[in-house]
Amino acid sequence: MSVGLYLHIPFCHTRCHFCAFTLQIHREDRVQLYLGALVNEMRLHADQQSLAGRRLDTVYFGGGTPTSLSAGQLTGILQNVRDSFGLTDATEISVEAHPDTVTEDGLRQLTDAGCTRISFGVQSMDDGELLQIGRRTSSNRTQAAVGMARSAGFANINLDLIYGVPGQTLDGWLATLDAVLALEPAHLSCYALTVEEKTRLHLDVRRGDAIEPDAALQNEMEDAAARRLITAGFTRYEISNYARPGYACRHNLLYWQGHDYLGLGPSAQSYLDGRRFGNVESVEDYDRTLGQGCLPITESELLSADQRQRERIVFGLRLIEGVDQVLLRHEPPDRAWQQTLDRLTQRGLLEERAGRLRLTDAGRRFADSVAAELI
Ligand code: SF4
Repeated sequence: MSVGLYLHIPFCHTRCHFCAFTLQIHREDRVQLYLGALVNEMRLHADQQSLAGRRLDTVYFGGGTPTSLSAGQLTGILQNVRDSFGLTDATEISVEAHPDTVTEDGLRQLTDAGCTRISFGVQSMDDGELLQIGRRTSSNRTQAAVGMARSAGFANINLDLIYGVPGQTLDGWLATLDAVLALEPAHLSCYALTVEEKTRLHLDVRRGDAIEPDAALQNEMEDAAARRLITAGFTRYEISNYARPGYACRHNLLYWQGHDYLGLGPSAQSYLDGRRFGNVESVEDYDRTLGQGCLPITESELLSADQRQRERIVFGLRLIEGVDQVLLRHEPPDRAWQQTLDRLTQRGLLEERAGRLRLTDAGRRFADSVAAELI
């Protein structure tokens, strides 16, 4: 079975107004402490044979902003991964990046060390919209960063976008899509902006300083993006993800296809051999626990065969192709589960096609509530 590794880098130079992630503002002393803890966690898992000798199919540096670390720090982590678990020539190694934090030399160090995929948090190509969400960067920086990544040898470039930014119109969103298409990425992720509690955006909306995203407009934007990107040669393979042929993100596919993964870092989640477990949330608790030589796991649950099957279906439904109906066969038959499926199908949220169960166009809008009913 495939196995992936997620490495959480919980540092950013500033916090975006919509971001509710657990993170610290980048400071070199914090980074040094963290790198020691991260390597300790890796070694403890290697000593315990957590991956049972399996080599990694994918490695994913996520955050936070992984490229708030120097290229030398990132390649140092990667060397520890290689020593602890082993990589193959075919391992997909992805790095999330902020356009302001890359240089061509640093990016070349990453490709020389084996990184194969880079994912830039772009969000918008309109500088006024970037300002609205607290992104101190510009569309020019994004253009430059993509050019540098390509020169450094990255062919597999993803750009993350957000739609429904306060004040954004449908035309503004289409202009952002056209501007990123001109950069010829291999992959695009389009997420609807949500207002999370305890964020600056939440405060601004409550004070009346920002307008809450309009759900109907966001639905229009989602549909418009699908049309524009599919016409441009992308395949929509997951609710929010589009790829040119051969460029679907293998790491994220692991999650949706029910494969194993180990997550390292504060708040990272893992799923190995039917067990789900998660790390402490705060960076301070994470550093302290590993300083004492212990794994920072706070919760762990061994899933029953039935729970595993349900999760496999629920995650698989995020994929546009849906799940093989073979997965739906329960032994012995589970009437309540079947009734839920029938109800969701009658409501037009699920459909069966060519031996697969999938969300309908309408169902994709309610993916989370469909999942809640099925789990
Ligand atoms: S760069 Fe990403 S992780 Fe960092 S604050 Fe902004 S949205 Fe959050």
